[in-house]
Amino acid sequence: MSVQESPEGDCALDRGDVRIAPQYLGICGSDLHVLAGGHPFAQPPTVPGHEVCAIVTEVGPGAEGIAVGDHAVIDPIMACGHCRACRSGRPNLCEPPNVAGFRAPGFARTSHVVPARNVHIAPKDVAWTDLAFTEPATCARHSAGRMPEDCRDDILVIGAGTIGLSIVRALRIMGAGKLTVIEPDPAKRAFAGRLGADRCVAPGELRSETFSGVFDVVAAQTTLNEACTRVIAGGTVVVMGVPNGPREIPLPSMQRFERTLTSSGMYQPGDFDDAIEWIRSGAFRPGDLVTDVFDLDDAARAYERAKEPDSIKVLIHIAD
Ligand SMILES: [Zn+2]
Ligand SMILES: [Zn+2]
Repeated sequence: MSVQESPEGDCALDRGDVRIAPQYLGICGSDLHVLAGGHPFAQPPTVPGHEVCAIVTEVGPGAEGIAVGDHAVIDPIMACGHCRACRSGRPNLCEPPNVAGFRAPGFARTSHVVPARNVHIAPKDVAWTDLAFTEPATCARHSAGRMPEDCRDDILVIGAGTIGLSIVRALRIMGAGKLTVIEPDPAKRAFAGRLGADRCVAPGELRSETFSGVFDVVAAQTTLNEACTRVIAGGTVVVMGVPNGPREIPLPSMQRFERTLTSSGMYQPGDFDDAIEWIRSGAFRPGDLVTDVFDLDDAARAYERAKEPDSIKVLIHIAD
């Protein structure tokens, strides 16, 4: 694409591109994997960061509906735009995955250029630290939507970290029925209760109960076994955790009784807009889920803090 002249005569952005100034960056478990050198799609040194809220600082030609000064959340999936998955509205399935902070340059910087289609405008009265939580809420929005509506009446969520907690909230907003959570950490169990879970138990506490839908937000062999054996005939298991290797599934009972095993991988553009609206309306309040905010100078400490089990979401303040 050609480089266009801006009104000031400077070398401006390519068609359809937008320059952003990241404000707050969220640290995710997957960022810690990259940092430790254990991520399949990214090796350090790399610029990390895929959870970001930003101010629009420059708008290229053809970037409709976006203005300098807008507050925005950026979809980190830099999809090709023309493969079968992209054409069917599922850019999260574009292969190979080209995601900011992994294969593509991340958002931990003061200035960055992104395609306009990745920019989701947010109302300016949403607090930046709330807006910074949009990406995990978007993950939860997509994941909850992967559970068929007729399986949402009696749900089990295994694992109440950042995403598990967000799924609890998303399910509550989306009208799910009874919500049960399995989580070893008592503080996170209490949190899940405040976000709308009806019952929160430690691993091993449930008896022989079964559920119409189960989210495995851990994806360990033990949690997958639990998910597959606790889902009713005709029910659905959504794997939302990121497994670190192959897993066995109890196929005989899954096959005979039409238990569905499905998964959720990142999100689609509309999930961002739903999550922004949830946060704007107060239906989804990130407030307490953000446990720590570090200045950019303290970024190294922020990554250390994010490894500690009693942190939920750790943010880095990039710019004012
Ligand atoms: Zn993430
Ligand atoms: Zn594609």
